[in-house]
Amino acid sequence: MSQKLYNSYTQYIKSTFSERVQKISIDAGFTCPNRDGKKARGGCTYCNNDSFSPFYCSSSKSIYQQLNEGIDFFYKKYPNQHYLAYFQSYSNTYDSLHVLKKKYEEALSHPKVIGLVIGTRPDCVDEKLMEYLSKLSEKYYLVLEFGIESTLDSTLERINRAHNYKETIDAFELAKKYGIKTGGHIILGLPGESREQMLEHAKKIAELPLNFLKLHQLQILRGTKMASDYMENKSDYKLFNLDEYVEFVAHFMSYLKKDIVLERFTSEAPESLLIAPQWGGFKNFQIVHLIENEMKKKELYQGKFLT
Ligand code: SF4
Repeated sequence: MSQKLYNSYTQYIKSTFSERVQKISIDAGFTCPNRDGKKARGGCTYCNNDSFSPFYCSSSKSIYQQLNEGIDFFYKKYPNQHYLAYFQSYSNTYDSLHVLKKKYEEALSHPKVIGLVIGTRPDCVDEKLMEYLSKLSEKYYLVLEFGIESTLDSTLERINRAHNYKETIDAFELAKKYGIKTGGHIILGLPGESREQMLEHAKKIAELPLNFLKLHQLQILRGTKMASDYMENKSDYKLFNLDEYVEFVAHFMSYLKKDIVLERFTSEAPESLLIAPQWGGFKNFQIVHLIENEMKKKELYQGKFLT
C-alpha cells in the first residue's frame, strides 16, 4: 500500500463534517498591539492586511453582513453548505472580553455558521479568554490560529513581530490546557534564515500542541516596511523561485510531525500588491499539485525523517 503523502485539510474537513464546510473571512474591526503602540508601532515589516482580505471583507459592514455577502458568493454552487466564520484581519482577540464575546456571538448567530476560526498573535491571549473559548468549543467547532512566522528570536526581532518564540510556546500550551484546537502560520524565506534554520522550524513546531499548519512563501508587498528594506538590501533576501520552493516544501514536509494537518502551502497576494517573487500567476492548487508530485518523485512523505 502506498504511503499517504501528508495530512491534507480538505481530507480533514471531509472526515470531520458530514457535509461541505467553507470558511468565510471577516474583518471585525480589530487592530493589533504591534500597530497601536501597545507593543510597537508600524506592525510586522511584511504586513499588509489588504493582501489576504476578500472583496466583501470590510470593518465598515457588520459581521452578519460580511457573512451574508460571503455566503452569497458560494450560494449558487453550494446552496446547502455550512460555514466557519474566519476572524482573519489583524489580531482578533485584541479587545475586552465583553467586545470579543459580542463579535464572536454575532457570527455564531448566523444560521449557516457552525463554528469559528480566530486568527491572532501569541501575546494576545489569557486565561479568561481561553476559559470562555473553551466553553464555546463545547457547542461549536473552534480553532485558535496563531502567527508563529519563525521559531528564531533573531528573525522575529528583525521583522518587528514584537514577541518572542517563548511567548508562542506559552500561547499554544495555554490553548492546550483549555482543550482548544490550534493552527499556526510559518513564513518560509524570511531574511537571514538559512535552509537548515527553516528546516529547524518543522522540528521545533513538532513540540507544540499544533493541529493545523499554513505555510507561506515570503512575499514582498507594496506599502510595507519590508518593501523598502528589500529595495535597499536586495542581497539580504533570498526569495524562493517556484522550483526552489516546491523542492524545499517537499523536503520540509518530511520533517513535519505526522499528525499536523496541512491547510496551506502558499500565499497568493493580489498581483497589484506583489513586488516579488513573481511566479508567473500559478494558482494555489497548481502549486499544491507540484509539491505533491515532487514528494512522490523523491519518495517523501510527511514525517519521513522524524525518528
Ligand atoms: S502581521 Fe498581524 S501581528 Fe503583525 S502587524 Fe500585521 S496584523 Fe499585526
